[in-house]
Amino acid sequence: MGFPQWLDIYEEAWADERAPAGRSCPECGRAELGLAFVRPASSSSGVMAALWCGACLHGVFLGNCSEPESGRIWSRDEARRAGLVPNYTVIPPV
Ligand SMILES: [Zn+2]
Repeated sequence: MGFPQWLDIYEEAWADERAPAGRSCPECGRAELGLAFVRPASSSSGVMAALWCGACLHGVFLGNCSEPESGRIWSRDEARRAGLVPNYTVIPPV
């Protein structure tokens, strides 16, 4: 359980934005994962990725990611306005 499993899911999702839909949460086992790429306001390098479980509200938050090949990159304001990313407990890297 924990960060490595989340990273596996993230790497799949990076290549195919629909991938999280078929994966279950490493914490609770439910298939309610969400993923969003957000461009930081103040940095020119990379994007941030939020990957979370909508059922137990755990997940990871990764900085300085490569931009995905497909899928939308949100600005922070857009993401906030859309209520895209819920408040979730961030699992720290190991
Ligand atoms: Zn969960």
